[in-house]
Amino acid sequence: MVKKMAALMIPALMCFMISFNKISPIAAQKPGLHTIIVDAGHGGQFHGTRGLISKEEDVTLDIALKLGEAIKKEFPEVKVVYTRTVAGSVENATTLKEDLHNRAQIANQAKGDLFISIHCDATPKPPGGYYLKRVIGHKKKLEYVGKGKKKRKKMVNAPIYESYWVKNMMTGVTPYIWKAEKTSDKVNAINDESGGEEFDDSTGNVEWDTESPEAKMRAQLYEQKYFRKSAVFASIVNDEFQKAGRRTWGVKQRDKGIQVLQATGMPSVLIETGYLTNKEEEEYLNSDDGQNEVVQDIIAALKRYKQQIEGTRISSTSSTTDSSK
Ligand SMILES: [Zn+2]
Repeated sequence: MVKKMAALMIPALMCFMISFNKISPIAAQKPGLHTIIVDAGHGGQFHGTRGLISKEEDVTLDIALKLGEAIKKEFPEVKVVYTRTVAGSVENATTLKEDLHNRAQIANQAKGDLFISIHCDATPKPPGGYYLKRVIGHKKKLEYVGKGKKKRKKMVNAPIYESYWVKNMMTGVTPYIWKAEKTSDKVNAINDESGGEEFDDSTGNVEWDTESPEAKMRAQLYEQKYFRKSAVFASIVNDEFQKAGRRTWGVKQRDKGIQVLQATGMPSVLIETGYLTNKEEEEYLNSDDGQNEVVQDIIAALKRYKQQIEGTRISSTSSTTDSSK
């Protein structure tokens, strides 16, 4: 009985799938990962954090270049666009705003499908470690107290201090995404940075006029779409670093200090690849082996993400658009 039913259902299902595929040519462009923007954080006067032996701008550039090469090797069909390939600010920007604007501009003009910004983290404490003082006892000491004629000698209990070394222990990886609650902020940022230029998305070109209610709705929809994909990729990134044995802090949302993520009209993730203020992690991030491991963790995440957004099992829209080309 079960066999009979299955035999009846399979052709019915196939029939359904075929007819489903036939109504698909509405989609203008196949969704997926065609262009990845690799952004080496900081540069020039905007050098970011410093460790004992390195500056963030140099470490991010090393990792970004290695990541770009690895993407080309792993996904030959994917185009890699860098925001910078040399030391210094992006396109010789002289202000931070200009620097971030240039990054977003490069990403948007290349019509990227994913923006990966490479950064290194730091604690507010000095890199490596620092000395603190603690009281380890007291001793009697003769001191002058009071002023002028009232000045006199007095025995006081003076503390005895000892300096001790505190290692800067903080380590780990944190993927950041733009804070989605402030939807209008992100939408405004996209418009500001684009200067009214056209944006491309998997569904076609969109003119980003802010005025009409229709445009606002569309912008919001797009923002939500970027947010979802950003969150998906960021959580896979976190997962892959964790699987590789790195300490991870989970996907975090931020609205300040990651302005570049608001300005890109595409899913965007900023990866803090580790702490330069921790001696060992800084050495790791400066080593070829460490940098290659970071890159391989991101590549592993990209493989899964690519499969997810290009796979046929996710939603009916992806199964229809996949057959349209
Ligand atoms: Zn940074």
